[in-house]
Amino acid sequence: MYSFDKEIILNTKIEELMVSSDKVAHVQFDNPLEHALLVLTKSGYSAVPVLDHAYRLKGLISTTMIMDTVLGIQSFEMEKLSQLKVEDVMNSSIPTLKVNHDFMRALGLTINHPFVCIEDDQGFFRGILTRRTIIKLFAKNLNKSMQS
Ligand code: AMP
Repeated sequence: MYSFDKEIILNTKIEELMVSSDKVAHVQFDNPLEHALLVLTKSGYSAVPVLDHAYRLKGLISTTMIMDTVLGIQSFEMEKLSQLKVEDVMNSSIPTLKVNHDFMRALGLTINHPFVCIEDDQGFFRGILTRRTIIKLFAKNLNKSMQS
């Protein structure tokens, strides 16, 4: 039989689980789409945060959003990669977390999102919380009791 260390999990701080901003691949809102596609392809991530020049969170951009934009009726319109900017395509209505939010809030958001961006009270980007990190926390705190 397995059980969870409920207290340890619920008391885990978002800051302890966060991938800090300096380790997160990102693009800027005024980068051309081709730069975003390059970052996404080379990093292997399906989506990355979009920031402004002051490191404030603006949204998310994904490979799917870019490919959907360049896909015309009959062919790919690759010229759009240099004509359009990240801000023309990004999703700016995204859920966010603050470092002082509780674990249950983070858990709820990662059900529908593979990662959630974390910002401070001024909107400055602090990092991301991934679903993988949450699952790892559960796996680490899963205890096998003597009873089967
Ligand atoms: P993972 O759970 O590690 O597979 O990450 C899930 C998603 O979170 C990835 O597909 C990316 O969109 C995002 N992600 C994870 N780590 C990073 C990172 N270091 N920089 C940018 N995005 C990341």
